[in-house]
Amino acid sequence: KRPRPRRCLPVIPQGIERSRFFFAIDELSSQLGNENVEVNDKPLDDGWYMEPPNTHDGMAITDEEELVASAVVYPGSTDDVQKIVHWANKYLIPLHPISMGRNFGYGGAAPRVRGAVVIDLGKRMNKILDINPDDSTCLVEPGVSYYALYEEVQRRGYKHLWIDVPDLGGGSVLGNALDHGVGYTPYGDHWAMHSGLEVVKPTGEVVRTGMGALPGNNTWQVFPYGFGPFIDGIFSQSNYGIVTKMGFGLMPNPGGHESFLYTFEKEDDLEQLVEIVRPLRIAMILENAANIRHALQVLALSGKPRSAFYGGEGPFPREKMNEYLKNHPYGACTWLYFGTCYGPKETRQLKLDIIHRQFMKVPGARRIDPKVLPPSDYFWSRDKIASGEPDLEELAWVNWRPNGGHIAFSPVAPTRGVDALRLWQMAKKHWIASGLDFFLDFVVGLRELHLIVECVYDRDDLKQRSTALEVMRFLIDEAAQKGYGEYRTHLLLSDQVAGTYSWNDNALMRFNEKLKDCLDPNGILAPGRSGIWPARYRGRGWEV
Ligand code: FAD
Repeated sequence: KRPRPRRCLPVIPQGIERSRFFFAIDELSSQLGNENVEVNDKPLDDGWYMEPPNTHDGMAITDEEELVASAVVYPGSTDDVQKIVHWANKYLIPLHPISMGRNFGYGGAAPRVRGAVVIDLGKRMNKILDINPDDSTCLVEPGVSYYALYEEVQRRGYKHLWIDVPDLGGGSVLGNALDHGVGYTPYGDHWAMHSGLEVVKPTGEVVRTGMGALPGNNTWQVFPYGFGPFIDGIFSQSNYGIVTKMGFGLMPNPGGHESFLYTFEKEDDLEQLVEIVRPLRIAMILENAANIRHALQVLALSGKPRSAFYGGEGPFPREKMNEYLKNHPYGACTWLYFGTCYGPKETRQLKLDIIHRQFMKVPGARRIDPKVLPPSDYFWSRDKIASGEPDLEELAWVNWRPNGGHIAFSPVAPTRGVDALRLWQMAKKHWIASGLDFFLDFVVGLRELHLIVECVYDRDDLKQRSTALEVMRFLIDEAAQKGYGEYRTHLLLSDQVAGTYSWNDNALMRFNEKLKDCLDPNGILAPGRSGIWPARYRGRGWEV
């Protein structure tokens, strides 16, 4: 049982007296209903993936009490969200919106500013507002999970529609896209697949983007741009608005799919493999995001903890990994490529044949015949995900360490062998030096690859937690020196990552700050999100 901090007094946001804060909370309760405003005065409960906390990060990497909410509020409509925003401006109370709070590895539901009021949009605003079977589109509220959308598509009998899902299906379709999340069908770039937002601005007005601005339109979910500047981008990974509705394109059922798996023996094979992947991926012969994983993760995905394979400390020994893999249907290897081809048998066979010829150019490459894999094998989870069916199997690796937590380093590079190898060598150096274990996944979007390095730690081990955070900081700095930046990061690393995007005397951040001050003059919305601090906070010791 994890030791829990004892607490009975809620955290109060900085800059407001305790009595005034409770006065303000009473006022908000009278507007939203007592049951929709909860002061955070109970012991912190980390829950688990399906019951994530909305008051803090269930995988805290620093002191549990550092990034906690003072209260959580549950709006039931866009109108309620406006009321909350007006209230926050009146009392200068910071807000932190979440859709479902399952942003594990990036800070979960935690606010960046201690004592901010979390707006848990997902609990009551969870309607699928539209699924259009002709246009293949949908319109959702923040609380619609991948599971909920999938089940609704099935319930309505829309066999011709697929959804796209990330590794875990419990997240919010809207929240994941806002954080530039990814999935594994050809529609895996969630932000790219969106069309239309409804947003409550930090001053309380509501705006609809794209065609949504035209009264009576029937094109909101089919044409994202509308007329004039395309402003949607400023609401992703930002603190410029609270998104209350979002539209998406849905993928047509391709008429069949077939997943495949190749293994590659040597660490350096990565270079040749990525060179092979690039033209195939850009030409869409490899149709879904390439998934090149380091083999250590296979052990963790078995569901057994690290201690079942090796009792020692320090980085997991390579011999132990091979020892396990050689008796596994995958065999001893370093890299695994999980992919899927789409379409009827004859269409996908053409692509599978090309892929086979190309992949087998890497000496020692092996195709693993799915027929030899038992139904419980992880391969079948990838197959489900790549065909738009939500799953939870991926959670297995989080329990590699007892009380498993993880934090991600996610740099972006061109899909070039030399870059992949450079990132791998850099990650490996820090992996060995840290003594912790890393799970690596090179995910090729189209022309770019994201390397996702998940550093896994025991949440009860303070040393492991601080080492994990420290190693992330080293990686961010070293990557930036080599010209690589992250596509997404943990909220505690946002200042550092934002600081690496510094071209022309931090022109981008100065632009972001100008926008922030203009849209949110009181600085109430998610101060510090993506390293963007409003004037009221800037330069006052909040940046880390
Ligand atoms: P939320 O946590 O609700 O939202 C994410 C962030 O966006 C919030 O912190 C908030 O800052 C902002 N936000 C949310 N809603 C709003 C709003 N309405 N208005 C304004 N801002 C808002 N992620 C992937 O993308 N792909 C993967 O394959 C993947 N695999 C994972 C595997 C494992 C084992 C784990 C543990 C995590 C994985 N994740 C992955 C990370 C994460 O779980 C998902 O991205 C998840 O969908 C994010 O949580 P959420 O959907 O509940 O979003």
